[in-house]
Amino acid sequence: MKIRPEEITSILKQRIEEYDVETDLTEVGTVLQVGDGLARVYGLENCMAMEMLELEHGVTGIAFNLEEDNVGSPLFGDWELVTEGQPVKRTGQVVNVPVGDALVGRVVNPLGQPLDGQGPIGTDERRPLEFKAPGVVQRQPVKEPLQTGIKAIDSMIPIGRGQRELVIGDRQTGKTAILVDTILNQKGQDVVCIYVAIGQKASTVAQVYERLKDAGALDYTIIVSASAVEAAPIKWMAPFAGTAMGEHFLYSGRHALCIYDDLSKHADAYRQMSLLLRRPPGREAFPGDVFYLHSRLLERAVKLNDDLGGGSLTALPVIETQAGDVSAYIPTNVISITDGQIFLESGLFYSGVRPAINVGISVSRVGGNAQTKAMKKVAGRLRLELAQYRELEAFAQFGSELDTQTQRTLARGERMVATLNQPQYQPWPMEEQVVAIFAGIHGHLDGVPTPQVPRFQDELREHLRTEGSVYEEIREKKDLSDELTERLEQEIGTFKETFAVREETGLVGAAS
Ligand code: ATP
Ligand code: MG
Repeated sequence: MKIRPEEITSILKQRIEEYDVETDLTEVGTVLQVGDGLARVYGLENCMAMEMLELEHGVTGIAFNLEEDNVGSPLFGDWELVTEGQPVKRTGQVVNVPVGDALVGRVVNPLGQPLDGQGPIGTDERRPLEFKAPGVVQRQPVKEPLQTGIKAIDSMIPIGRGQRELVIGDRQTGKTAILVDTILNQKGQDVVCIYVAIGQKASTVAQVYERLKDAGALDYTIIVSASAVEAAPIKWMAPFAGTAMGEHFLYSGRHALCIYDDLSKHADAYRQMSLLLRRPPGREAFPGDVFYLHSRLLERAVKLNDDLGGGSLTALPVIETQAGDVSAYIPTNVISITDGQIFLESGLFYSGVRPAINVGISVSRVGGNAQTKAMKKVAGRLRLELAQYRELEAFAQFGSELDTQTQRTLARGERMVATLNQPQYQPWPMEEQVVAIFAGIHGHLDGVPTPQVPRFQDELREHLRTEGSVYEEIREKKDLSDELTERLEQEIGTFKETFAVREETGLVGAAS
């Protein structure tokens, strides 16, 4: 028999082509080992990184660790039911989550499955979990404000749309409270909020949910919950899923706000997962790429340029510190990634400063560009007054032995601190904040005893809401013209007369 080279070549070619097709369609591996929400799978040679895998009992996996002879895969769902030897199918899809308007108002897990018992979520759109952050050319500087409704933040640590601002502090210092207030304040602002709870108690998440629901804030909010009981991979996935959901709005020219509460627990989950997958541990036993993990997440926060629709994604990550130690590994990492940070201190919290923001060391590196002119005008003086106050604060105990100038600075500072105190769930609009601070820096509070400052501010606000149109004008012009300043002085003057009378009768009443 004669051998014909063309025939052999054609057979070989055909074989090669078929081989590819065959493996692509039917590549099935087997579970070698399973435990702690992770599986090792044998026989998925052509599997892609981050490809979704199908296991028995409706469990989903992700091809996370591609090794020479096996694939390390975190599992989602009832992974306890998976046993050694069961088949694992490739799906050919890189991991993605459902996105879209249908998710707004819902509580979902990081896979986009509903947790609120309100039926399935009707959306066909999906976005990849990991998405490359836009480059320099696609961005523009932050220019619109994202108001939190908290006086101390909007005046001195302003946040802009597309910014990344870290909220950092010890446990129980009011971190979540600031974020919930920020969500409440986005009502009617055209910003979709995504609250990502990572490793929180389910009861805390339920509280946030109730609070948002009562305030009607669920109409523009998605809650992504990976609570403390969930396995590490789910917690690891949560912030990425939340960001993907936010990107849907970002890339359609809208505005989104992503809150990650908190990234310390996220780093812990990632550490757990990495150690179980036998990746080498580094500092504090975190894997070497934990900086990259958080930077690639937070780089996705962006203000897009106008050609791309001008949408924005603002990120407010949270870090919990241990005894105020900001130089630990994860806090320093995230501080260096973000555009500023809001420091909360337990000392301040217990001394009655709430929100317990240390304005001396809190900064916002880009948000100032987005601040309204009216706010800029009053905030500069406020910063100065508070800085002078802090310098002299230690001397306050000497009381009347101090010279009059020092006494005056101390009295002014005390009243400014009282003005910035704010109860939870009561965000103030920009124009009301401006007037409150204006009253302080122009000395209208100097004659009011400090404990009565909050009442003064509340009543002044009531007065201005009902009488005159100062608020309206500041809201529209976003500036304090000379004429407006004068009118404001007058209005506050008139109000002060009525307030002083009431105060005096109050004191007489108390004395008798
Ligand atoms: P955790 O570390 O547990 O997550 P956290 O730092 O998120 O705590 P929160 O849960 O927001 O802190 O607040 C702690 C407590 O302080 C809560 O009971 C809350 O009601 C109270 N609190 C927070 N902010 C204020 C405020 N501005 N005025 C009064 N109370 C406040
Ligand atoms: Mg909290």
